[in-house]
Amino acid sequence: MMELDIVFADAHCHSNPVEGFGAEEICKKFKDLGGWFIALIGLPPTHYGLNLSLTDFLKAHRIAVEECKRARKLGMRVSCLIGFHPAEVDKLVNRKGMKLEKVIELAEVLLNNVISLFKEGLVDGIAEVGRPHYRTEPQFIVASELIMNKALQYAKDWGLLVHLHLEQGGLVTVLDIKNRIEYIDIPVNKVLLHHVRPGTAEFAIKFNLNISIPALEPLVRIATTKYPPKYVFESDFIDDPKRPGVVIEPWNLALNQLKVFKKGIVNEDYLWKINVDNIVNLYEVEPP
Ligand SMILES: [Zn+2]
Ligand SMILES: [Zn+2]
Repeated sequence: MMELDIVFADAHCHSNPVEGFGAEEICKKFKDLGGWFIALIGLPPTHYGLNLSLTDFLKAHRIAVEECKRARKLGMRVSCLIGFHPAEVDKLVNRKGMKLEKVIELAEVLLNNVISLFKEGLVDGIAEVGRPHYRTEPQFIVASELIMNKALQYAKDWGLLVHLHLEQGGLVTVLDIKNRIEYIDIPVNKVLLHHVRPGTAEFAIKFNLNISIPALEPLVRIATTKYPPKYVFESDFIDDPKRPGVVIEPWNLALNQLKVFKKGIVNEDYLWKINVDNIVNLYEVEPP
């Protein structure tokens, strides 16, 4: 496509080689539209047709690592992140009848696995951990917060990047995470609040927290119109043909930004900052 020198980065995307396109097809399509960087995030085992056993959680980590290798072979810059999604707390208790303290133990084993894979050079960060974004039992939220704190601690000790999955609580969400970052004493640049929407995004930008905004068309318009270029865009694609349109595909992340560029809402400099400079700083990758 003849589209100047604009390049695009997807700060948070899932690929599913079992049920969906898989990393290879996703990256080929994204690359055709100027995609140069993608952060690939592992999915929970059930997305890959696996069960909720520890063995299968570990298998899911492996699948994600293999997906990152496939993406790298295509010449994409890739950041590979795996972890323990907060929604798994509910699943393990309600579907498996697991005790909450056992869930926390399992999450800790998985976080240790992330560190081992990081030491092998196969993984770049932890994603995703955090809090559920939906209504649930209060003790499930507390458990997910204990896991999040542990992840932040590990990330601090080993120098990893962490993606936090959170509620859209506006200033309250931002202050809570800011306090956790300070208390745990992890460099602020090692934490990304992912899937942050307007209403919360402004506060995060004000307090200099890293955020990625879903690149849905209306959100791209709001962000590029109202915010300084102090954020990144993500697709949060889940690569599940059974749930189409839940979020957007990485190639639409590119197309939606081209739309605001063509309308004159943003210039090349602005797009370069969010798609290259901010990505290089956050993921510590070489620029395109
Ligand atoms: Zn998420
Ligand atoms: Zn995600």
